[in-house]
Amino acid sequence: MALVVTGTISIDTIHTPSGEVRPDILGGSCTYFAAAASFFTPVRMVAVVGQDFPPHLRATLDRFPNIDTRGLEVRAGSKSFRWGGRYLDNMDQRETVFTDLNVIAEAPPPVPEAYRDSPLVFLANTHPAIQMHMLEHFDRRILAVADTMDLWINHHRDDLLALLRRVDGLVLNYDEAELMTGKRNTVAAARALLAHGPRFVVVKKGEHGCILAHQDGLAALPAYPAENVIDPTGAGDTFAGGMMGHLARRLAEGKEIRSFEAIRQALAHGTIVASFTIEDFSLDRLARLTAEDIRWRTDEFARMLRMG
Ligand code: AMP
Repeated sequence: MALVVTGTISIDTIHTPSGEVRPDILGGSCTYFAAAASFFTPVRMVAVVGQDFPPHLRATLDRFPNIDTRGLEVRAGSKSFRWGGRYLDNMDQRETVFTDLNVIAEAPPPVPEAYRDSPLVFLANTHPAIQMHMLEHFDRRILAVADTMDLWINHHRDDLLALLRRVDGLVLNYDEAELMTGKRNTVAAARALLAHGPRFVVVKKGEHGCILAHQDGLAALPAYPAENVIDPTGAGDTFAGGMMGHLARRLAEGKEIRSFEAIRQALAHGTIVASFTIEDFSLDRLARLTAEDIRWRTDEFARMLRMG
């Protein structure tokens, strides 16, 4: 069942706690999301890069056969989005070193006509006004979910609040939920966000898992206990990719995808894909991942969660 994602494709520079620097690697919210979702369902991508986008980074995307890149624009005369991040000692906290919006600050990319019937829409991290503009193209949607981050909360809050009134779900980090609501307690922050309009809010807490606040209930899930954390970049986007990919698969099986129970089950699939992403830089781990690896770890995780 067609899932469409809009967001950034980036040239990232990652600083690890050991002082290692990895410049010019493939990143971006749309990139990570699409790669993760592609293990569950075909995924349509709408994004824009500049003329400077290196062919070898583009080739990495092509290693994911389930990603439809007809909506990827290479804009002549423009520069690609670039982001730099530095992880602090515990790997769970990071600071942004730089954000060069470049082409993201220009006009959004066109949405291919063939994508407009997409029933599932994910608005990965980008300017909330662009997210809203993109949302308007998909009038046959059954489920639309958005992500956001500190840059947009700090500088474009009104656009973000307008978006919240139009989407079914929001996925964000616990510190972003606090920044947006002023509430330290994760459940209280999630409930305050629900009051702005969505059916559900997923608050991610890194290595401490996530909570789901849905109009019909509350749930919590631990993270997969990962031992080998190399680069956490993209964990949030791939979490969302696994979650939405699972929902797309459910829809293809003729099941509903908006209930508390459907979203609750989808969280586990997001958790598992994210646990692979962090085992290497960029999309390197996902590019080597198999459906069998995912199945094996999902079963292991289910055994860990069994009570009694
Ligand atoms: P995550 O670790 O899941 O939060 O995602 C990190 C990815 O998001 C990186 O690959 C960045 O290129 C991208 N990114 C960083 N800042 C932004 C932003 N303000 N808007 C959209 N994407 C961003």
